[in-house]
Amino acid sequence: MLVSAKEMLTKAKQGKYAVGQFNINNLEWTKAILQTAQELNSPVILGVSEGAGKYMCGYTTIVGMVNGMINELGITVPVALHLDHGSYEHAKKCIEAGFSSVMFDGSHYSIEENIAKTKELVELTDKLGLSLEAEVGSIGGEEDGVIGAGECADPAECKMIADLGVTMLAAGIGNIHGKYPENWAGLSFETLDAIQQLTGDMPLVLHGGTGIPADMIKKAISLGVSKINVNTECQLSFAAATRKYVEEGKDLQGKGFDPRKLLAPGVEAIKATVKEKMELFGSVGKA
Ligand SMILES: [Zn+2]
Repeated sequence: MLVSAKEMLTKAKQGKYAVGQFNINNLEWTKAILQTAQELNSPVILGVSEGAGKYMCGYTTIVGMVNGMINELGITVPVALHLDHGSYEHAKKCIEAGFSSVMFDGSHYSIEENIAKTKELVELTDKLGLSLEAEVGSIGGEEDGVIGAGECADPAECKMIADLGVTMLAAGIGNIHGKYPENWAGLSFETLDAIQQLTGDMPLVLHGGTGIPADMIKKAISLGVSKINVNTECQLSFAAATRKYVEEGKDLQGKGFDPRKLLAPGVEAIKATVKEKMELFGSVGKA
């Protein structure tokens, strides 16, 4: 059964570890992440971007697939199914479809409009027992033409949004989506510390987890980060393993063209990446 991310993140914040959000793209991705979480007895959040939602034939298809897998694979660790960077409309669609958690990314609105829309969604998710993630200060990415430092959120604005009663809060602290550029300035622990001072028990979310050095991840967790999003890193390891299989000509040997064989190295690579992250985040054994 899917659960809200509230309890797992409250425990993580208290226990000074973080729960990974791993974005899914298809059946193989979902299975690899769920099986690894179960093997390591770790709570897990499955992230779905709007684009991936469309790719996987809509939110109800995803809810059906994830619930079916939890049942058929005997998954007993807490699993939250979460909309990543959702618009107001898509947050509502996911709630209707049966997601247990949504992110409303109102960071591109004025702070007033972000507050008004977040407030409405707090009421709705509270009533249904779902978790809600809000964002303050947009998180950059290569596609946005941002190179070097990512944006840093205003701690006072973070407090305004946290006080609305959201479950968890994403704030820009110099982090970036996708691969980090060579000249990246690193995370701003000063900003993170200031945000935590003002928001207290609120679990903080670190987006763009791919390529942040392990020591920075650990320091961020010590300063209140309880949820870390990983997306690109699983894509890179899946692609590298699949490339290796094809380059070695294995798809041309015997029944190596069978999709269950062709995709297997990629699935194992995702599992290894998820395992590495869960160990780094400290969520192993915390289910
Ligand atoms: Zn993000």
